Amino acid sequence: MSDPPFRFCPRCATPLAPREIAGDDAARPRLACPALGCGFVYWDNPVPVVAAIVERPDGVVLVRSKGWPETWFGLVTGFLERGESPEEGVLREVAEELGLVATLGDFVGVYPFHQANQIIMAWHVRAEGEVRLGDELAAFKSIPVERLRPWPFATGDAVRDWLARRRG
Ligand SMILES: [Zn+2]
Repeated sequence: MSDPPFRFCPRCATPLAPREIAGDDAARPRLACPALGCGFVYWDNPVPVVAAIVERPDGVVLVRSKGWPETWFGLVTGFLERGESPEEGVLREVAEELGLVATLGDFVGVYPFHQANQIIMAWHVRAEGEVRLGDELAAFKSIPVERLRPWPFATGDAVRDWLARRRG
């Protein structure tokens, strides 16, 4: 899921090379552009992702992306657009992926997903109505809240915390 690293400078197309950056505390060299006057450094910082625990009257909506194994379902997620707040982004993703106008609920938490180099911000949202799946999705299912079980990675941690708080 993580993007492969750049091999060539996206500014000037010179092949990138490892370089120690002065003042950089990371324990590894960065890929950087050796061309004179360019200065591009590939920092490879985590990418912010928003995730929604979408609750409808009949349960929480989980989705399967195209290309995922048949048994994999997860939360609605997506990348922020430039200039958008995370709250706007999570509601936009629910509209794009499920065709639902959702209401923002509680913020659930922030979760690192190191394998994908992402930092996931999760909200509970409420919605009603018929799901119309977006282009990126293959399937969805509604799980009654009492039967919802967290999975042991990525957005599953948000589901775990949300369920624990409801019981609390
Ligand atoms: Zn360059």
